[in-house]
Amino acid sequence: MPDPGVLNLDRALQLLRQTGQELPQGLPGSGAWLQSLVDKLCDLSSRDALTGLANRRTFESALNREIDRVARSGEPALLLYLDIDHFKRVNDSHGHSCGDAVIKAVAQAIGESVRPMDLAARIGGEEFAIILPNCPPAFGQTVAERVRLRIESRAIDVGPSQRLGVTVSIGGAFAPQWVRSSASLWAERADLQLYRAKSEGRNRTCLEPTPVSLVSAEEKGLLFGSSPSGDIA
Ligand code: GH3
Ligand code: MG
Ligand code: MG
Repeated sequence: MPDPGVLNLDRALQLLRQTGQELPQGLPGSGAWLQSLVDKLCDLSSRDALTGLANRRTFESALNREIDRVARSGEPALLLYLDIDHFKRVNDSHGHSCGDAVIKAVAQAIGESVRPMDLAARIGGEEFAIILPNCPPAFGQTVAERVRLRIESRAIDVGPSQRLGVTVSIGGAFAPQWVRSSASLWAERADLQLYRAKSEGRNRTCLEPTPVSLVSAEEKGLLFGSSPSGDIA
């Protein structure tokens, strides 16, 4: 029987070693050492192992937080879904490990294209999502295209003197402002646009047209008790 008064951290340390993480620095068992161990485990459980991007669980909780924030603040936020085009062909022609290298390179390109405040996640095999808080609708297409072009222009090293290029399709939707909605509805709308990007020929961005708000500035002021500064985009 393990002694209930003694922490057994062997499994935690083993997990860090197996996943190639650094072990905590400092005096083992000290407060700082334990804090560092907990931080490393939290980090590990929030990231996707292959790419280092946020994993699906982290993405889902961030999406829920973001939709609440948009409902309260009215700030615009964009959700992008990305899916690598014809990825099966990469696996079939070059093998699974080459496919993994492509997924990693696409993830890296996504990470390089977004701001620190954005959240980029791998949410499925070759599927990614980006949450962009505070992204004005007028910039949505430009931002999404910047990501797409960065991926398209990358020559991915997949072996000795072997380079591959891939493209992605991107679908996106803005969170509804000033109204309560749900993360799953927001995700469905972005997914629908991704489907449209695929069916219209791939290697393109399709954003849901930004709806013209039916809430006037006056109504907004009545709803939220503040002096409105203008119509909602
Ligand atoms: P589409 O343009 O319609 O997206 O075509 P596609 O070939 O990319 O089709 P689909 O999205 O259905 O294919 C996904 C493939 O990704 C199927 C699966 O074998 C492969 N895959 C999923 N996860 C991984 C992974 O972690 N590593 C590798 N190498 N392949 C993966
Ligand atoms: Mg897919
Ligand atoms: Mg695909």
